[in-house]
Amino acid sequence: MTVYDDLTLVRAELDRCMKCGNCMAVCPIYATVKNEAGVARGKVGVAEAVLSGDLALDDKAVVEMLFNCLVCKSCMQNCPTKVHFDRIILALRAAVVRKNGLPWLKDLIFSLLRNPRLFDAGLRIGAAFQGVAFRTHPEQQAISPRSPFAWIGKSAGFDASRFLPALTTHPLRDRVPETIQTPNARTRVAFFTGCSLNYFYPQAGLDVIQVLTENHVEVVVPNEQQCCGIAVFVHGDIDTARTLARNNLDAFEKSGAEYLVTGCGSCGGAWQHEYKELLAGDPVYGPKAEYWSSRTYDISTFLLNVIDYRRPTGKLDAVVTYHDSCHLKKSMQVFEEPREILKSIPGVVFKEMPQADACCGSGGSYVLTHFDTSTDIARRKIENAGKTGARTIATGCPACMMQLLDNVNRHGNGQAVTHYICLLARSYRSE
Ligand code: SF4
Ligand code: SF4
Repeated sequence: MTVYDDLTLVRAELDRCMKCGNCMAVCPIYATVKNEAGVARGKVGVAEAVLSGDLALDDKAVVEMLFNCLVCKSCMQNCPTKVHFDRIILALRAAVVRKNGLPWLKDLIFSLLRNPRLFDAGLRIGAAFQGVAFRTHPEQQAISPRSPFAWIGKSAGFDASRFLPALTTHPLRDRVPETIQTPNARTRVAFFTGCSLNYFYPQAGLDVIQVLTENHVEVVVPNEQQCCGIAVFVHGDIDTARTLARNNLDAFEKSGAEYLVTGCGSCGGAWQHEYKELLAGDPVYGPKAEYWSSRTYDISTFLLNVIDYRRPTGKLDAVVTYHDSCHLKKSMQVFEEPREILKSIPGVVFKEMPQADACCGSGGSYVLTHFDTSTDIARRKIENAGKTGARTIATGCPACMMQLLDNVNRHGNGQAVTHYICLLARSYRSE
């Protein structure tokens, strides 16, 4: 039994909050809305009122308040008593879903995630027909305000002015064999691609594989892997999150790999932390989740701390700044390694931006449900990136890449947005 099954178990976590308000200084939502309801302290108060019976989980205002959070964990970094606020907010959302069920649209989307064949087919059909509702820009697409189908995107939360990466018609996992061998392999890793690298950024996924094989690492890309489940977990659908976690654990158990590597902070955080939390007490899958948690690495930490990668010699000539993905830094504690990799590339001039670890406002689907707040948070990020003069913004999370891409077009000056691994792969290619 976990806090995601019984809200009363979250009481001990609530009692650790001393109402100091330190979370206000770092909460990206509070910086925009200037309202106690936006910040951790306010939500801790709501949780206490729910437990004492003063507020109800079917009250619309309560539900809106509980879903107005990016789960970015910034407040946890600045909390003197180390309140696990992520546990509190996700336990509350799980309780909301137990009481009210899922809204129909979320229910529909999450049921697709439970059925990977249907999910895959849906995205392939979407890729084939996206030209109907999107106008094409060089290397990116946006919903066209002139398209008769723009209302479809708008009703799902896609503002008509947004720039989004194109869905690929040729997903990453179609492009590579399940096992990619390399001469003189020193070890074997399993690559968890996640949905975003598979369907939106396949080249970044290919670059992860190239960098690994370049360093004599055999790569397995299990075909049976599914969505990591973070998107459903943060929306309170605990049953689906557990189903996806168990399916992924089964798929990777067969891989025969020594390590698991990710190129996405959210996916990596799921494997390192959330699967263990969700499956605590499960006699079969709890130990499997523990096993893979200790063997999961972001590609940067794997390159630096496990195999000591070969430093590249190909010159790039690029001024680069780096945005810390919340899940990569605040969940996986990965922040020095991507910078070290960028600085190891000949010709890269690295410029640190102010508040590099401030959230970009994406929050996975937060940008869909709270577009104006999300975009205001992203504006601050792009302005800070702009102060460095860098022409490239690198990061380690595909969801952040989508948010940065969109907001560079609103508030930036044409900077390129990329995954840091793509720059390393490009340097190897130009040797
Ligand atoms: S910083 Fe921590 S202890 Fe202080 S109000 Fe926020 S959650 Fe509570
Ligand atoms: S998780 Fe992020 S958005 Fe939510 S209360 Fe904490 S700092 Fe604010």
